[in-house]
Amino acid sequence: MEYPLSNRINSLPVSQTLAMAAKARELKAKGKDIISLSLGEPDFNTPDFIKNAAIEAVNQDYNSYTPVEGYIELKEAICTKFKRDNYLDYTPNQIVVSTGAKQSIANVAQVLLNPGDEVLLPAPYWVSYSAIATLCEANFVEIPSSIDSDFKITPEQLEAAITPKTKMVFFNSPNNPSGTIYKEEEYRALAKVLENHPQIYILSDEIYEHINYGSPSFSFASIENMFDRTITVNGLAKAFAMTGWRIGYIGAPEWIAKACTKMQGQITSGTNCIAQRAAITAVLAPVKKVQYMVDEFKFRRDIVLDLLGNIKGFTLNIPDGAFYVFPDISYFFGKTLKGTVINNASDFSLFLLEEANVATVTGEAFGAPNCIRLSYAASEDLLRKAIKRIQKAVNS
Ligand code: GLU
Repeated sequence: MEYPLSNRINSLPVSQTLAMAAKARELKAKGKDIISLSLGEPDFNTPDFIKNAAIEAVNQDYNSYTPVEGYIELKEAICTKFKRDNYLDYTPNQIVVSTGAKQSIANVAQVLLNPGDEVLLPAPYWVSYSAIATLCEANFVEIPSSIDSDFKITPEQLEAAITPKTKMVFFNSPNNPSGTIYKEEEYRALAKVLENHPQIYILSDEIYEHINYGSPSFSFASIENMFDRTITVNGLAKAFAMTGWRIGYIGAPEWIAKACTKMQGQITSGTNCIAQRAAITAVLAPVKKVQYMVDEFKFRRDIVLDLLGNIKGFTLNIPDGAFYVFPDISYFFGKTLKGTVINNASDFSLFLLEEANVATVTGEAFGAPNCIRLSYAASEDLLRKAIKRIQKAVNS
């Protein structure tokens, strides 16, 4: 039966990361031994010093509505963090705290994009960018890259993609799904192109900033002339193992921050008060307090690269950040595995779910149809077991 839903929701694809996680959960509930490498979620617990800050906040009776844009103490703490880690000089009136970085991005898109505007998405890109643009009735334009360029785009590609309708470009480094990190000089070269197109705003998603095993993270807004045109997005989910707490934030030109506050004021109001109080402690904590998780992710990354690299048909780059590997598996296209014809990455991802009981996410969801994404935010044992199963399934 067709329900009378709006065109808006009907035009929206389901989030493939969340859909695959839900499918894995459903199969597990039915008793199947599924290893889920689909969702990008640290398998660590939130550190005790952050949990204790939340408990204290409960006991201090933080229970009322918060300012829509976030507690002033949290906004000040975020300014301190931006200065400490990113050499960015934001003031509290340029900060908006939201229910996860996803809402931060959705707010920014809603307040800047008109129907018909174009949003440039260097591919691969995180699944929800394109959906968020679609919700604004904007058109997203993919700028392709491949494993041969370490999944980076060039200034020439950026220039070629710009039209008079281009309003925004989304950068994401360290990148989900490829783990690629843009070096300072690479970002500066892209900024040079944007200097000639002052109508374009830059959204720089830096949520994986601290999960970095390569060159130091570099914030796009720290480039001269880019600060007043860039919205820096960050949050606590990944580095602090706080996915469910839902705390994201932006640093932005004040007029954009104000507009996001207005938008949020009509949709969700301020973010959860207890999570915000705990976030003050997390944001101000020295990064070395969570380094043990980053070290462990790097250890697992090396294991995964080593084991997957031994499977014929998996071509890998070395991801310098985040906790994903994004192998090119196009070698399998056109082949038949255990009676299943593999025509594309979705077929391959489904094959792995059915034959190896390993949940991954198809690269098509990220604008990279030759690849699949595996999250290594899982225990070493599970990772070894999962890759053994994958090897067995594809070698059959
Ligand atoms: N960002 C994570 C991922 O890509 C969490 C799921 C989501 O919100 O998409 O897996």
